[in-house]
Amino acid sequence: MTRGLRAPIKHVLMDSHRVVGVGNIYASESLFRARIHPLEPAGRLGPRRCARLVAAVRETLAAAIEAGGSTLRDFVGGDGQPGYFQQQYFVYGRDGQACRLCATPVQRIVSAQRATFFCPRCQRRT
Ligand SMILES: [Zn+2]
Repeated sequence: MTRGLRAPIKHVLMDSHRVVGVGNIYASESLFRARIHPLEPAGRLGPRRCARLVAAVRETLAAAIEAGGSTLRDFVGGDGQPGYFQQQYFVYGRDGQACRLCATPVQRIVSAQRATFFCPRCQRRT
């Protein structure tokens, strides 16, 4: 699906024409869970990391549904209201705060006009 694509994986993840399209919050959270850098070219993800990302998206959405505080809107691409699920975010909105896994400060970058959050240690570029 992503073979040959030079676009950063996060853009592909949010592109509703290409895949289901997940919201900005869930894209950041899923990439963290999969330990993939948001600007990694999509075409460079091998089958192993692709599988990890698919599983991570599923886990992230399941966690949001369980928390019950998120809007459906964010599932389909908007930013929505943070709601209760925000308390469980790994990286979203946490720039400058310690990564929950490794304590490295979470970084915020702007990519395609959207804020993107990631841990530079857990999500290294390859
Ligand atoms: Zn980390």
